[in-house]
Amino acid sequence: MSEPKLVTRTIIGLEIHVQLNTKTKMFCGCPVRYDAPPNSCVCPVCLGHPGALPVINRRAFGYALLTGMALNCKIARHTKWDRKSYYYPDLPKNYQISQYDLPLAARGFFEIPVRGRMKRVRITRAHLEEDAGKSLHDASGYTLVDLNRAGTPLLEIVTEPDLSSADEAHTFCIELQRLVTYLGVSEGVMQKGQMRFEPNVNVAIHCDGREYHTPIAEIKNLNSFRHVRDAIAYEARRQLAAWTEDHDYQQDKRPNENRGWNAEKGITEYQRDKESAPDYRYFPDPDLVPVEVSDEMLDEIRAMLPELPIARRQRLVSEYGLSARNAETIVNHRGTADLFEKVIAAGAPADVAGKQFVNVWLKLANDRNVHVTDLGVEPEQFAELASITADGTINKTAANRLAQVMLQHAEPRAEWNLDLSGARADARSPTTSPLQLAQELGLIQVQDTVLTEAWVEQAFTANPKAVQDALGNPKRAQAAAGFLGGQVMKLSGGKADPDLVGRLIEKQLAKLRGQA
Ligand code: ZN
Ligand code: MN
Repeated sequence: MSEPKLVTRTIIGLEIHVQLNTKTKMFCGCPVRYDAPPNSCVCPVCLGHPGALPVINRRAFGYALLTGMALNCKIARHTKWDRKSYYYPDLPKNYQISQYDLPLAARGFFEIPVRGRMKRVRITRAHLEEDAGKSLHDASGYTLVDLNRAGTPLLEIVTEPDLSSADEAHTFCIELQRLVTYLGVSEGVMQKGQMRFEPNVNVAIHCDGREYHTPIAEIKNLNSFRHVRDAIAYEARRQLAAWTEDHDYQQDKRPNENRGWNAEKGITEYQRDKESAPDYRYFPDPDLVPVEVSDEMLDEIRAMLPELPIARRQRLVSEYGLSARNAETIVNHRGTADLFEKVIAAGAPADVAGKQFVNVWLKLANDRNVHVTDLGVEPEQFAELASITADGTINKTAANRLAQVMLQHAEPRAEWNLDLSGARADARSPTTSPLQLAQELGLIQVQDTVLTEAWVEQAFTANPKAVQDALGNPKRAQAAAGFLGGQVMKLSGGKADPDLVGRLIEKQLAKLRGQA
C-alpha cells in the first residue's frame, strides 16, 4: 500500500520579548541589574505595594518608538497602558502593565535575507510592558522568588505567520538581535535572557486535493537561536506525525496548545491547552495617563534612526567592493562599521582595508576579547597600514607583523578602554606611524627592479634544474617557477616584492624561451 504524496508547509509566527537597555525600570527608579543580590533592586512600585504610583520611563518609550520605526511600523499618536491580570508568585502586583488594544507600534515589516533574496516578514505590532520577577526552584523543593527583574522594560514584538521554515525563523531572530543591538536599544544577550522567543507553529498539509491545518502550538520562552531552530523543526515533524496518525488532529477539532522545549531530550512537551488560557481581564491602568506622541517627539526619534545593518551591509558591498561575508562581519557591530568607514575616509583603499580589517584586525581584537574599536589604534593608522600594503611598500606578511607591533604600542591604553558601551575613552593612542615602524623593523619591500633582477639571475644560475623544468616540463613548470620565486625571496631576506619577483621570473623565462 503506497502512502499518498503529501505536500506540507510549515507556518510560523514569532513573539519576541526584548529587554530594553535602560538604567532604570519601566515604571520606577530601581536600577536594572543582572548580577545584584536577590531582591536588592526593588521598591514599593515594583513590589506592587498598594498606593505606590508608577511613572513612565521616557527612555524606554523612546527606545520602543525607535525600534518600531526601524521595523517600518505605523507609530501610534495616542497609546495607553493596560493591566493584564495574572496570579503568579513572581508578579507581586497580580497584574502586568502592558498595552492591549492600542500598542505604540503596528503594521510594519522586517526584511531578512533568505536564500540570497530579501524576504519581507510583516510585523503585527510592538508594545511596551514590564517583566516579571524570577522564580528559582531550588534542590530542596522550595521555590525562591527574586524580584530584581520585576518591572524591567520589555518590548514585545509580534510577527504575522510569514515564516515558513525553522531556518527562516532562525535567521529572523538573528537579524532582529542585530537590529536591536545596532540601534543600541538592547544588549540582546541571550545568556542573560535579554531576548526571549516564542514561535507559533503549525503545518498546512495538502493531501488528496484538500488542505489540512494542524492546531497551532506556541513554544514558550526560548532563549537561544539554536533552540528556536531545533524546537520549530521538531514541532513541525511532531505535528505532521500526529496528523498522519489521526487525521482529526487539525484546527477546530483539537485545541491549540502551549508547549515547552526540552533541550536535553530535543523534544517539545505539552504544557496546556490554549482554550484554558486564563482570561487576562485587560483594562486600562487607572494609575497611568495615556501617552500622546507629538510631532516633535517623532522627529527627534526619527533623527536617531541610523542606516540599518542589512542596508549598510549591502552598501559596503556595492560602494567599496567588499565581499558579502566581510561586509557582514564588519557591520555586525555598529562601532566597528563606523570605524571602518572612518578608515576609508582617512584614505585607505577599500578592498585592502576591508580584508585587513577582517583578517588581521578583527582577529587580533577577538583574541583579546574586545571590539576593534577598543584596540587603541586610530583610523589614520589603520588607513596607513592598508595603504602601504596596497601600494606594495610592505607585503602581507609584513603587514600582519606590523599590526601586532602596533598593538603592543597601543595596548596599555586599550586596557583603560574596555567599557561595554563600545564608546572610546578619550585616551589617544601613540602616534606611531606604521610606515615608520616598518622602516625601523626593516620590513619595507625592495621595489628596486635592477636589484631584484640581480637576485633573479642569481637564483637562475644557482638552480639550473628548476629553470629547465620551468621552461620545458609542462607538468612541473608552475612548481618550478614557484620554487625559483622562493629562492629569490630568500636571497632578498624576505624583502623582495613577491609580485615584482613573479613578473621578473616570467620575463627571464620568456627571454630564455626566445633564445632557444
Ligand atoms: Zn522599583
Ligand atoms: Mn508579553
